[in-house]
Amino acid sequence: MNAKEALPRYFGILDEKELPYYLICKSVPVSSPLDSDSETLWKEHEEKVANVRSMRVPFEVVNPNLLDLKLELGMRLLNPCRICERKCNVNRLAGEAGYCKVKESRVTSKFVHWGEEPELIPSYTIFFSRCTFECIFCQNWDISQRNRGHHISPGNLASSIEGMLGGVRNVNWVGGDPTPNLVYILEVLTSCNVPLPQVWNSNMYLTEEAMSLLDGITDLYLSDFKYGNDGCAQKLSRVMRYFEVVSRNHKIANEQCEIVLRHLVLPNHLECCTKPVMEWISENLDTSRIRVNVMDQYRPEYKAKEYEGMDRRLSSKEFSTAYRFAEDLGLNVI
Ligand code: SF4
Repeated sequence: MNAKEALPRYFGILDEKELPYYLICKSVPVSSPLDSDSETLWKEHEEKVANVRSMRVPFEVVNPNLLDLKLELGMRLLNPCRICERKCNVNRLAGEAGYCKVKESRVTSKFVHWGEEPELIPSYTIFFSRCTFECIFCQNWDISQRNRGHHISPGNLASSIEGMLGGVRNVNWVGGDPTPNLVYILEVLTSCNVPLPQVWNSNMYLTEEAMSLLDGITDLYLSDFKYGNDGCAQKLSRVMRYFEVVSRNHKIANEQCEIVLRHLVLPNHLECCTKPVMEWISENLDTSRIRVNVMDQYRPEYKAKEYEGMDRRLSSKEFSTAYRFAEDLGLNVI
């Protein structure tokens, strides 16, 4: 199956036959006052978001709208922060930082990227500082584990996105990880009105509430699914309950929209990680809406040389075994 067949809605936006979800959200009115209690707001959110995927509306901004409601609910998730499954007991509205150390969102770079999957390029890629993981082999450790970049006002970033219309195929939110910056990203989108698909490029360690806020915002998940068990995830990325959370969120993402799923093959991790992840995908997801990128780019960066077995590149035999395994399961491998 080619990319156009697997990702019909994404290509529908590129062909101007569909609207990106975030623009549809701006056309959906909300009746509850935004200072209502959280239970009332979540109830209306669930009701309204259920229709977004099937709506065909002309783009017309109403006030208040479903995106405003998402922003309000997102602000409430910041105290105590429960944007990701670390669920730190900190008040980010008061400037406190949790595990990810994000206070105000910092953009480390934004540029037209030609290094993503063929269906995504050229991609306007916006990199944030910091991450919810600490992968010992991170290739972007200088931005994921350090405070880098600078804060850009949401209005200014929206303007720079608008300036990209005609020159890129999508807006690609990444890091580090975009997750701690979810509320900031919603703020940017409230000031932005261009018909570009929104790509959520992430480790997928969000809470169910945060995933719900992405429903009706994300047009394509560019997701990462590395580990087939919690032990490897704990040892190599300092994260608990990896498989339960990331598999759950892939199921949610699979219901929301299309996915390009990345699996980085790790040296010596074929049996414990690559094969279980590929089997889980084939058994649990609607694979007709997923492109799978089996990646061979592993390099022993950051602290990898301190870990036995992680201090070398992938062998060609390991990669060909992983690739064939995914193909034999019938996955739509890029
Ligand atoms: S986003 Fe950051 S502060 Fe919030 S729960 Fe996750 S790690 Fe903690």
